Amino acid sequence: MFLIGGVQKTTLIDFPEKIASIVFTQGCNFRCGYCHNAELVSFRQFYFEGQEYKPSDFFDFMEKRVGKLDGVVITGGEPTLQTGLYDFIKQIKSMGFLVKLDTNGTNPDYLEQLYLDNLLDYVAMDIKAPLEKYAEIVQVVPNTEKIKKSIDLIMKSGVKSEFRTTVIKSQLSFEDFDKIGQLINGAEKYFLQKFEASKILDEKLKDEKTYTNEEFAVICQNLQKYVKYVKVR
Ligand code: SF4
Repeated sequence: MFLIGGVQKTTLIDFPEKIASIVFTQGCNFRCGYCHNAELVSFRQFYFEGQEYKPSDFFDFMEKRVGKLDGVVITGGEPTLQTGLYDFIKQIKSMGFLVKLDTNGTNPDYLEQLYLDNLLDYVAMDIKAPLEKYAEIVQVVPNTEKIKKSIDLIMKSGVKSEFRTTVIKSQLSFEDFDKIGQLINGAEKYFLQKFEASKILDEKLKDEKTYTNEEFAVICQNLQKYVKYVKVR
């Protein structure tokens, strides 16, 4: 199974320093209220521009991009829920492309297999909150041991990576960011993503705010105890 919910033919910003295509997988096991990809959260088959978009369609497209694109970003939804992810990535790699995987960290065993077989060139993982606050943000009861295991795998992998958090002021306090810093202590990069109320899963959050630039500056400074490269985007 590899359900594609959408494809973006080119991106200059989603795979650091690379020109890439993006594949959006269909289905997620979290329900973050601020999710911008609300149409990708359910597991129903989503039809791309009126028709089913099969992995073979994507490979046909990528054949024409050999030499023009550096890689592919696989995002979601949550890509590691797709049983066909391994074979999908393997085929992309066999075509000579680099692969960036975005994940919510709920499937460390799958992630580990992809690392073991050298199938990943960059991994970006969401850190939703300190572990004890995850359920509040993702609106399901997560297995936080698995989240922690994914963080450890990513940090020990030797493969380029980043962690990132979408920030709603009422959801995360300064103290919470300190706890997140401890969780990812020594990570390569950490991005704080300003919450934007457009196109979100839970309309109840539409009036929520993020921190001011001044407040973000203080948060970043505190986090630099744990991660040298901290940026707001
Ligand atoms: S933000 Fe990511 S993890 Fe959360 S519901 Fe959306 S796709 Fe899933």
